[in-house]
Amino acid sequence: MNTILRPVAVALLAVAAAFSAACAMPGRNDAESYSMADFSQVRKFDAHVHANTPDPAFLEQARADGFELLSINVDYPDFPSIARQHAAALALAARDPTRFHWATTFSMKGFGTPGWADRVDAKLARDVAAGALAVKVWKNVGLAERGADGKLIMLDDPGLAPVAEQVRALGVALIDHQGEPRNCWLPLDQMTTDNDREYFSKHPEYYMYLHPEMPRYEELMAVRDRFVAAHSKLRFVGAHLASLEYDVDRIAAFLDRFPDASVDMAARMSQVQYQSVRDREKVRNFFIRYQDRLLYGTDLTYGPDADPAEFRREAHAAWVSDWRYLATGESQHVDMIGADVPGLALPRAVIDKIYYANARRVFARSGR
Ligand SMILES: [Zn+2]
Repeated sequence: MNTILRPVAVALLAVAAAFSAACAMPGRNDAESYSMADFSQVRKFDAHVHANTPDPAFLEQARADGFELLSINVDYPDFPSIARQHAAALALAARDPTRFHWATTFSMKGFGTPGWADRVDAKLARDVAAGALAVKVWKNVGLAERGADGKLIMLDDPGLAPVAEQVRALGVALIDHQGEPRNCWLPLDQMTTDNDREYFSKHPEYYMYLHPEMPRYEELMAVRDRFVAAHSKLRFVGAHLASLEYDVDRIAAFLDRFPDASVDMAARMSQVQYQSVRDREKVRNFFIRYQDRLLYGTDLTYGPDADPAEFRREAHAAWVSDWRYLATGESQHVDMIGADVPGLALPRAVIDKIYYANARRVFARSGR
């Protein structure tokens, strides 16, 4: 019987092999890198943007460039209110639910008063039921919000533990922006990038080097690590390379210590480029080694006052520049660090993960 069936099985295997070969890209070798021409064709996911208006221009550019978006609502005073961000997210998700995704957040107002955590937990449950794929905690925790005793509320405050537990129970990720780039604690002439130098010289109120009474960089990192250790089953995403952007070895140590954590690259590409100009192979090897733990993201922000055409050009330019750097071997000049930066030419299989598959996994809703 086996001898009769065998030719059939062999024929079926041959058909299956031909089918899978036809499905793969012709002549594709996953160890090779993509080219600039591949940019709009490859499926991509920007895991850290802020669409703060229901205007569809951001979504339209994402469609043109082959991106899905995760728009993150934030308790940030310079943004529209959380309620308006929420309304914008719902409107855009209704327009294109397969391309537009969103993360919710919560206000720290009333923290420490009776019922605060219950009210936040109920809101997060409603938002996840409405489609939110993650919950954002912003840097106001650790650097701005104060409790009734006048002390800064830190991320590992026991009062925040029930909220972290609720995020875990809801089966979504927690995106945490802790602290600031390390440059924020350094004198201007020791900072690594011009964008930090400009930002902190124009915003002395946020420039921690000038505020020795505020928490130190290492203190905030230690607080965050205690929080992640205490909530090991939580899907934790460290925004902005977990504020360890200045040294890929520090990011590696964080990812090694916390196997369920991942980090997004939003608004920190120039910091990575600063390092790869000095040691390209080291940075390239970091991306390859941690290819399952890194999420592509930009921090592109589209507000209600922005010009739609101008924003579309800005978004396209940012996405193309990052693609040139990560996916191809082509060089480009990066003004923020005043250097010509050769691309990393990461293998296609690595690009497919950091640009898409990792985000789909981290922002999948588990157990629902
Ligand atoms: Zn952001």
